[in-house]
Amino acid sequence: MSAGRQPPKPFEDSGVPADVAASSYDAWDAVVERIHDASALGKIDPDVTRILCVCERVLEVAVPVRMDDGHVEVFQGWRVHHDTTRGPAKGGIRFHPQLGSHEVAALAADMTLKTAVVDIPFGGGKGGVRCDPGQLSAGELERLTRRYTYEVASLLGADRDIPAPDVNTDERVMAWLLDTLDMLHGRDMPAVVTGKPLAIGGMRLHTGATASGVVRCTRSVFAELDIALPGARAVLQGFGKVGAPLGFLLSSAGMRVVAISDISGAVHNPGGLDIGQLSDHVARTGSVGGFEGGQQIEPSELWSVEAELAVPAALGGALDEQAALALQATVVVEAANGPTIPAADRVFDDRGVTVVPDILANAGGVTASYLEWAQGRQGYPWDTEVVAARLAHTMDSAFETVWARSKDLGVSMRRAAGVVGVERIAEATLARGLFP
Ligand code: NAD
Repeated sequence: MSAGRQPPKPFEDSGVPADVAASSYDAWDAVVERIHDASALGKIDPDVTRILCVCERVLEVAVPVRMDDGHVEVFQGWRVHHDTTRGPAKGGIRFHPQLGSHEVAALAADMTLKTAVVDIPFGGGKGGVRCDPGQLSAGELERLTRRYTYEVASLLGADRDIPAPDVNTDERVMAWLLDTLDMLHGRDMPAVVTGKPLAIGGMRLHTGATASGVVRCTRSVFAELDIALPGARAVLQGFGKVGAPLGFLLSSAGMRVVAISDISGAVHNPGGLDIGQLSDHVARTGSVGGFEGGQQIEPSELWSVEAELAVPAALGGALDEQAALALQATVVVEAANGPTIPAADRVFDDRGVTVVPDILANAGGVTASYLEWAQGRQGYPWDTEVVAARLAHTMDSAFETVWARSKDLGVSMRRAAGVVGVERIAEATLARGLFP
C-alpha cells in the first residue's frame, strides 16, 4: 500500500451503526492496521497486501419479515467474502442489534487469517443480520433466517462459502439455513453449512470445539511461561456457546474460574465458581447475574479481579485501553473474535501481558468445521477419536509455529500469528497469479 493512501472501506455509508460510531474504534480499521503490520514484518509483496486490505465481495441485503402481529419489519443483513485464495469462504453468521458492515468485514478478514494460521484450506467470510433475537419469537426468528438465507444464497455453496454459528445463532438456525438452501436447489447439500444438528449431518465434538481449542492454547502458553495450571485462577467474559463449555473445561483442568460476566451481570467467588450450579442458574434465569454461589460484581469490574488468566468470550472491542490497564491477569487467551483493540494491545505489550490472539486461540471451532465439511462431502461420519486427535494436533502445532515465530521475530504472539497467516496467503496468491 503506498504511503498515505487509505484502503477503501467495505461501505462508506452504512458501515457503522450510529450508536457504535460514537466510539472511535472501528473493527475494520483495526484489521487493516494488523494486516499492514504483519505484511511489513513478513516482508510480504505489497501487491498481496493491497489485495488483503479490501474485501473480495460485500453483499448487503434487506430482510423483510412478517412479524407475529401482522406488520412487516425490514432488517439489514450482510454476507462478506474477504479472501478466497486458499479455499472457499468460511465464517459464521451473527445476529446482533449493533452489527454493521465494517464489523462483518473485519470478522471475515480475521477468518482469512485464522484459517491460514491453522493451515486449513479455507478463505475468510462472515455474515449476519442487524437484529435483536431476544426480541423475536421463534417463528419470527425462523422467517428472518430463511429470508436472509434466500437473499445471500447466491454466495453460498460447499465450494464457495460455508457458514456456521456465531453470536446469537445456533444449530437450530443452521438447520433452517440448510433446509432453505436444500429447498431452493432441490437437493441435499450437507457440506454447505457446519454446526448443524447431528440429526441432519452434524458432527460429534463440533459443539465445544472452540472451547477445547482455547484450553489447549491455555495449557501450551502456561507451559511455555512456566505457570502451573492446577489451582491457577481464571476470569471469563461471556457464558454462551463458547464461554459455558470453556468454564467447565477450565475447571476440569484444575483451574479455579473465579469470576464470570455476561451481558446482564457478573459473579465473583475467590474460591472458584461451581460451574455446574452456575449453568443450572443460567438455564433457569438466562444470566449469570443473581447466582448465589458468588458475590455480585459490576461486569466492568471483571478484568480487575485477581487471576492468572483472562478469557474474553463475548464481543469484539471488550478490552479497551482502560480494561488493559485494569487487567490483573498476566495471560489473555482470546476466545472471542477481535476482543482487544489496538490501543489495548500496546498497553499489554508495555505491561508484559502475554496475549494468545483470536486467530490462533479460537481456531478450534473452524478446525472442527473443516472436519464437518469434509464429513458432509465424503458422506460418512468421522469417529470421535479422529476428530479429537486432529483438533488437538492442529491446535498444538499452530501454537508451536506461532510461539516459535514470536521468539524468532521478538514480537507479540498476535503480530507473529499475523505474519504466519499473511505469509501463507501470500504464497497461495503468488502461486495462483492474478486473473485475467
Ligand atoms: P453466544 O451468543 O453463544 O454467547 C455470547 C455470550 O457473550 C453470552 O453469554 C452473552 O451474554 C455475552 N455477552 C454479550 N455481550 C456482552 C457484554 N457486553 N459483556 C459481557 N458479556 C456479553 O456467542 P458465542 O458463539 O459463544 O461467541 C462468543 C465469541 O466467540 C464471539 O466473539 C464469537 O465471534 C467468538 N467465536 C465463537 C465461535 C463459536 O464456535 N461459536 C468460534 C470462534 C469464535
